[in-house]
Amino acid sequence: MSATPDYKIPFTSFHNIINNELAETATTRHSICPSNEEPLWESPVSGNEDVNRAVSAADKAFQSWSKLSQDARAEYLIKFADAIEANQQDFITLLGKEVGKPPQAAAFEMFLVMGLARETPKLRLKEEKPVDDADRTAIVRYVPLGVGVGIVPWNFPLTLGIGKLLPALLAGNTFIWKPSPFSPYTALKLAELGTKIFPPGVFQALSGEDSLGPLLTAHPGVAKVSFTGSVETGKKVMAACASTLKRVTLELGGNDAAIVCDDVDIDSVVAKVAFFTFVHSGQICMNIKRIYVHESIYDKFLAALVATTKQFKIGDHTDPEAFFGPIQNHMQHGKLQKFYSQIGKEGWKTALGGEPGQKEGNGFFMPPTIIDNPPEDSSIVVDEPFGPIVPVLKWADEEDVIKRANASRLGLGASVWSKDVPRAQRMAEQLEAGSIWVNTHFELAPNVPYGGHKESGLGMDWGLVGLEGWCNPQAYWVKHSG
Ligand code: NAD
Repeated sequence: MSATPDYKIPFTSFHNIINNELAETATTRHSICPSNEEPLWESPVSGNEDVNRAVSAADKAFQSWSKLSQDARAEYLIKFADAIEANQQDFITLLGKEVGKPPQAAAFEMFLVMGLARETPKLRLKEEKPVDDADRTAIVRYVPLGVGVGIVPWNFPLTLGIGKLLPALLAGNTFIWKPSPFSPYTALKLAELGTKIFPPGVFQALSGEDSLGPLLTAHPGVAKVSFTGSVETGKKVMAACASTLKRVTLELGGNDAAIVCDDVDIDSVVAKVAFFTFVHSGQICMNIKRIYVHESIYDKFLAALVATTKQFKIGDHTDPEAFFGPIQNHMQHGKLQKFYSQIGKEGWKTALGGEPGQKEGNGFFMPPTIIDNPPEDSSIVVDEPFGPIVPVLKWADEEDVIKRANASRLGLGASVWSKDVPRAQRMAEQLEAGSIWVNTHFELAPNVPYGGHKESGLGMDWGLVGLEGWCNPQAYWVKHSG
């Protein structure tokens, strides 16, 4: 009988991982704990030399990793899932410190991570034979690309990265993970854990400033970049990748509409809409960001939404009862200040919250705020705030509300809420978004792809579509007559 492997690692120091070694950099930096603004640990500042070393190790590892069968690679991923599970509580605590997530929210992220870790190894790339007769066979198969890079934002630093890493590896690529400078710690620990499982060069992590991203997107040895972040940076990534025609997947911003019909059970729908609007303090790409409520129930719905939101507790990463945590960083806090300061200037009516005034105490907290029926062209409706502030808008006509929901240049997700499910489906199917939902929002599963339409992205992560995105399709012809 073999002994259970010891997968526990210390969570007290943070290094790049290059070729399965803990690698130092000449200079270091530290991030800030969003709950109290205290400095967190020192972490690497990678430069060109680190990038070259990592790409070269990844390229070398690709030669043998890509030749393993999918089943053999899946075996490694299953062991990796066991190793993550062994350190689950440490990851939850670290997510709390680096992102500011209260324990419930950090545990929710870890639940998503474990779902991806357990389900992704079950996926398989399949070959098709569109032509197969006595004369010839044509096989469409999927071959790995080479060195993959994942560039990740700060809001879900583990989930969004692991949703790229695992399919990249399963498909036969090697992978370099670049976390956000605002939240590099969990990714570095995950890569350190990877050294116990994967051959050298298969999974590496490089941390640094924003300037590290362009070094990776420009590198000729990188075959694909999978990026999650803002629309603005996504466009830069795509432009940089064009120089060597790297494959790209872009998961960008959202401005999700939820359309609430007149026949809903107000209490139960308000509870769900409030949750999907404010979970992680509105710092999720797929939060509801515009709530369209039928005029006949508008006043009742708004009052219930305010009452429900007031019940959500505000607290930091140590508070087990907290729902609203702080904003993750000073940059995002500053961006939000601009939205909040427009309340007075534009004369928006607040149903809850409002301008925060002078910042009190430490931590990047912002008051949960609901704007009552602002003009359709106001910035709070048109732009993505990425914080705990949301507009509620009135609608009367089905065709008109669908047009308003679709008016955004973004198209990540959208939902329709009604007791009449066929009616809701008819409406939802007209929405221009990568995910559409009926009577739910932000519903995800590891084996279902997600991604954005319009300026919300290109390609999809997760599921078989995500796995195929880490490959070149190849047409393979065999003439049987020798
Ligand atoms: P960001 O675009 O500022 O940064 C994302 C990542 O890109 C970071 O790791 C950053 O260091 C790196 N980066 C910065 N400049 C770069 C460059 N020129 N080249 C390459 N990489 C570069 O985004 P953010 O503020 O970290 O995240 C918030 C945004 O992300 C929001 O708009 C949100 O909607 C979006 N987001 C989208 C999804 C999705 O799946 N669609 C998920 C989460 C967040």
